[in-house]
Formats: sequence, C-alpha cells, structure tokens
Amino acid sequence: MRWSSKRLVARRDEAVRQLSLLGDFIPGSVNETWSKCGKPTCHCAGEGDPGHGPRLLWVRYEKGKTVSRTVPKRVAERVRSGVGAGQRFLEQVREISEINAVLAERGLVVPGIAGREGTGSGGSGQKRGSRG
Ligand SMILES: [Zn+2]
Repeated sequence: MRWSSKRLVARRDEAVRQLSLLGDFIPGSVNETWSKCGKPTCHCAGEGDPGHGPRLLWVRYEKGKTVSRTVPKRVAERVRSGVGAGQRFLEQVREISEINAVLAERGLVVPGIAGREGTGSGGSGQKRGSRG
C-alpha cells in the first residue's frame, strides 16, 4: 500500500475520531464456559452432558496476570459490547500506530539528501510526469 501522506493523515484522523467514540470499551474478552458441580446425582454427572452453563467469563490481563470474572446475566450484554468496543479500540490504536510509523519513516527521508529535485535526471524512481 503506497498511500500519499495526506491520505494517511486523513485515515489516521478518522481512526482517532473512531477512538473517541469508543469511550465505553472494556479490555479483555468474554467466553462461554460450562462446568460440572460434582454432585453425583446431578444431570451434569451424566456422560456427554456439557455441564452447567453457559456461564459468561470475562478474562483480561492485568500486570502480567490473568484475571477472570463471572459475568452476571443482567450485565452480559453490556460486557459483551464493551469488550467488542475494546477490541475495536485496540485495532484503531494499532492502525494509528502503523500510520504514524509510516509518516515518521517518510519524515526521515530528507529530500535534499535523498535525491535533489528539479535537476532533471534524478533517477530516484519518482514518476511525476511533469515533463514539458
Ligand atoms: Zn451439576
């Protein structure tokens, strides 16, 4: 992808705008889990029974540790959408970071040194087509 810097900046600004809309995001992920209570008379003791559930588990990493919490049904939707927003948040941050890296790389190329402009036969590989 060889976008112009102007286009990259526009894309980045759009990603920043998207970020600002994701204020209610939650880090981590949610998973459905099934568990067995251990009572021999319970249905979950039967072979092939998946157990009790689904139980919604919110898992996140904090200071290098995995933290998991059971999500009550009444807040399940909020946590699900918050976690979805959190994943979009990370995607936007990644995109902004990548774009800024490209822009920073381009900033490292000083035109006067990399190839003088306007000397006619530069040979720097730039095809501008402003001949005549
Ligand atoms: Zn059981």
